[in-house]
Amino acid sequence: MPLIDAHGRKHDYLRISVTDRCNLRCVYCMGEEGIEQLPHSDILSYEDILKVVKAGAELGISKIRITGGEPLIRREIIRLIEQIAAVEGIGDLSMTTNGALLPRYAANLKKAGLDRVNISLDTLKPDQYRSITRCGELKQALDGIEAALKYGLQPVKLNTVLMKGINDLEVNDFLRLTLDKPLHVRFIEYMPIGDHDRGYRDHYLPLSFIEEKAKQAGLPLTPAPLPGGAGPAESYTIPGGRGTVGLIHPISKHFCDTCNRLRLTAEGNLKACLYWQDEKPVRPVLNDKKALQALIREVLAGKPVEHQMAADGICGTVKPGTMRGMSKTGG
Ligand code: SAM
Ligand code: SF4
Repeated sequence: MPLIDAHGRKHDYLRISVTDRCNLRCVYCMGEEGIEQLPHSDILSYEDILKVVKAGAELGISKIRITGGEPLIRREIIRLIEQIAAVEGIGDLSMTTNGALLPRYAANLKKAGLDRVNISLDTLKPDQYRSITRCGELKQALDGIEAALKYGLQPVKLNTVLMKGINDLEVNDFLRLTLDKPLHVRFIEYMPIGDHDRGYRDHYLPLSFIEEKAKQAGLPLTPAPLPGGAGPAESYTIPGGRGTVGLIHPISKHFCDTCNRLRLTAEGNLKACLYWQDEKPVRPVLNDKKALQALIREVLAGKPVEHQMAADGICGTVKPGTMRGMSKTGG
C-alpha cells in the first residue's frame, strides 16, 4: 500500500539530514556561534540511514534529498550517495548544499549516482555574502555552481531566501542569472523556523512583488514547466532565457495541500512536517524492517493538514512549532 496520509496526500519523498554541522553560519539558519552540536555518537550512521531508505523504498519512497547542516562536510559522503543510489526504487537522488565544497566533490558525486543539486545563494556581492553567511566566500559558492554545471548535476537550482533590507534589491541580478546559463533560481520566503522569529519579523518579504519587478526591468516572467518535474515552486521563464525562475512561498501561499515529504533528522527522528514538534526516533526499530515500516506509517498517519508558521499574522503562531533550526531538521 502506498504512503498516503489522512488528508489523501501521497508521499514518495524523503529528506535526510546527514549532519547538523556546517561550515557557514547563515543569519536565518544559525546563531553567530553556530548551534549546540550533537555529539558524533548521536548522529545516525550511514548503515542506519540506509536501513531507513530501504524500508521507505519498499513503501514507495522514490525520491531522496540529502541535506543538513552542510552535507558535504560529513566524512565519506560519497559512500552514502553510492549506497543510496543503488537502492532499488530510488529514481531521484539530490542534495542541498551551500556549494563551497562542490569544486572538490562534484565529479565524484556524479559518478557515485547523485542526480542533481540545489545550491544556496542569497547574494551576488562578496561583502554581502560574507555578512549573510557570517564567514563564507562568494567565489567558493560560484565555483561550486560552475562545478555542478560542468559535471552534470542538473538541473542546477539556486535557493535564494529573500530578505527585506538585505538582498531584495538584487532580485533583477538573480533573474538575469537565468538568461545565459541553465540555472534555475528559486526565491524562497523567509520562514520563522526554530528561534528565528526576530529575523523573520525584521526581514520577511512576501514574493508577490517579483513578477511586477521583473516586468519593469524588461525581464517578463512567463509560466514554464518545473525543471526536473514536480515541486512546490511556481515556475517561470524569461523569454530567451536558458534557465527558469521559481517562486516558493511557504508563508504567503503555503503549499501544504500538495506536500509529499517526510524528513529524517541527523540524530534519526522521523518528522512528517518541517514545522511541528512531532517526531519519532527510528533507532529502536532499525533492526526490524517491518517495525520500521510500521513507524513510517505511524508518523505519516499523524501528519497535520498544514503548518501554522505565521498563522497569527506576521510573526505569531497559533501553537508553538519546533524550536529546531533548519540545520538540525534538514531544510
Ligand atoms: N547547508 C545546505 C544549504 O545551505 O544549502 C543545506 C541545509 S540548509 C538548512 C537548506 C536550505 O534551508 C537552504 O537553502 C537555506 O537557504 C534554507 N533555509 C534555512 N533557514 C531558512 C529560513 N529561516 N527560511 C527559509 N529558508 C531557510
Ligand atoms: Fe549552513 Fe545551510 Fe544553514 Fe547556511 S543554510 S548555515 S549553509 S546549514
